[in-house]
Amino acid sequence: MADPRVDLLHACQAMDAVRLSPGTSGNLSVRDGKGYWITPSGVPYADLNADMMVFMDLKGKWKGDLKPSSEWRFHLDIYCEREDAGGICHTHSTHATALACRREGIPAFHYMVAAAGGPDIRCAPYRTFGTQELSDVALDALEDRRACLLANHGVIALGETVAKALKLAQEVETLAEQYIASRQLGSPAILSADEMAIVLEKFGAYGQQKT
Ligand code: 13P
Ligand code: ZN
Repeated sequence: MADPRVDLLHACQAMDAVRLSPGTSGNLSVRDGKGYWITPSGVPYADLNADMMVFMDLKGKWKGDLKPSSEWRFHLDIYCEREDAGGICHTHSTHATALACRREGIPAFHYMVAAAGGPDIRCAPYRTFGTQELSDVALDALEDRRACLLANHGVIALGETVAKALKLAQEVETLAEQYIASRQLGSPAILSADEMAIVLEKFGAYGQQKT
């Protein structure tokens, strides 16, 4: 039987290989029955193995030698509130974080913004890392979306699997890079709500699309 911890490890290695989250920044998790496996706090991705993943139940209880990621609260709240989440990826990817440091989201400057489930990608207001307050604002920014930015911090992406969550986090980083590049030329044209609705329908993404 497939081991969700191995899927999680593979996603960690893939994220590290594409340098999406420098150092020990970022964290990933995968849902498993009545809880989820999450990366341990502050361990370099290259040093991880499947046995080091931490299981946490949906009440926030965990045991073992390694502490779970400091961001376990927003992972837990997303699994409790979002049936469409089978995996979560949090990054500090460079271009998305650069925008988030301006407390700006990503508007409909490109049709691929719809990959996150709506006509824009919101930026949640700043809250201290690892707090319930951060989780609360992140959940709001994720309403009807599968990704958001976190002000002065980074990105959260979710998906049906942790591999899909990682893929979306990569897409958000690409969009952020393109948006910043386009702004250097002037103001990019923003697609209308009607145009984005057409794209969302084409993506089959109205409402609760599972990635
Ligand atoms: P952890 O190493 O505790 O997962 O923290 C990294 C991070 O990105 C905090 O926001
Ligand atoms: Zn972080």
